[in-house]
Amino acid sequence: RSKRRGRGQITVYSNEIAEQMKRATQLEQALRNAIIADEVDVHFQPIVDLKTDTVVGFEALARWIDKDLGFVSPAVFVPLAEERGFIDALSEALLRKAAEAALSWPKELFLSFNLSSAQLMDPSTAFNILAIINRTGLDLNRLELEITETAMMTDPETAQKIVSELRAVGVKIALDDFGTGQSSLGRLRDFTFDKVKIDRAFVCRITSDSASEHIVKAIITMCQGLELEVVAEGIEDFAEALKLKSLGCGMGQGYFYGKPADAEAALRYIEEKYLLVDATNIGSML
Ligand code: C2E
Ligand code: MG
Ligand code: MG
Ligand code: MG
Repeated sequence: RSKRRGRGQITVYSNEIAEQMKRATQLEQALRNAIIADEVDVHFQPIVDLKTDTVVGFEALARWIDKDLGFVSPAVFVPLAEERGFIDALSEALLRKAAEAALSWPKELFLSFNLSSAQLMDPSTAFNILAIINRTGLDLNRLELEITETAMMTDPETAQKIVSELRAVGVKIALDDFGTGQSSLGRLRDFTFDKVKIDRAFVCRITSDSASEHIVKAIITMCQGLELEVVAEGIEDFAEALKLKSLGCGMGQGYFYGKPADAEAALRYIEEKYLLVDATNIGSML
């Protein structure tokens, strides 16, 4: 194809590639500077018990607003940090901030934190995480780590070893974005997890598309049989919440319950949706 485009075209395309590489390098430098300056922030999105509609934990989500580039999605800068070899520095800063914030929540609430694929290939990951968490003083039982099947697949042996080391000391493991990527039911049998997070791609069609409903229903039933907890991601409206409740889904997360927001907003959310709920309900959770 490139032959037919002729010389001029090829030049245009190589300029574009050069331009892209330049942008990525600018982004990398800006991100490195932001990490050093402690400007990468962490936001929190509530995860609720669908039976009681009360908050049970929060997922930490990285947030970065650069003064020149503006808002940059973690879906862009997390993979960049991985490719350029400084995901550890980024993740450490985020986990420390997230754990510090979680210290001021009621102790029944868990903190869920995303691990990237590069971290699942690094044998020192479990040690690094435990060192950070122990330094902050957060109870290990309150920590959950989210991993994706795709991320695990690059080096399944190392990933399984990391998972085992963490679970042995009480950290829970959630399988994120379940149903997308390199899903395999065999993985649910071979690997040991505590929780499955049903991907938003199914949840967002659950009230309009019966295929999605059947898939979600099957995942919930399967999780019940395997004694895995289950969270539906990306619940955006009341109808979706109602449908998931009727299917027996244990937990939910999404804009309907709360958008990711900063640590202060998470505390206000807890005051409204947790501390002020019926005292008998709190009593039963303690
Ligand atoms: P994820 O772990 O699957 O996180 C859920 C994403 O869905 C978040 O996007 C969240 O803001 C978004 N979301 C939640 N509820 C709704 C909803 O009701 N509707 C819609 N449309 N979206 C919803 P976000 O924050 O942009 O993060 C994107 C991805 O970046 C995350 O997907 C995760 O894979 C990665 N990520 C974010 N923070 C971190 C981090 O600290 N470390 C690592 N390794 N990855 C991170
Ligand atoms: Mg996640
Ligand atoms: Mg997810
Ligand atoms: Mg995702």
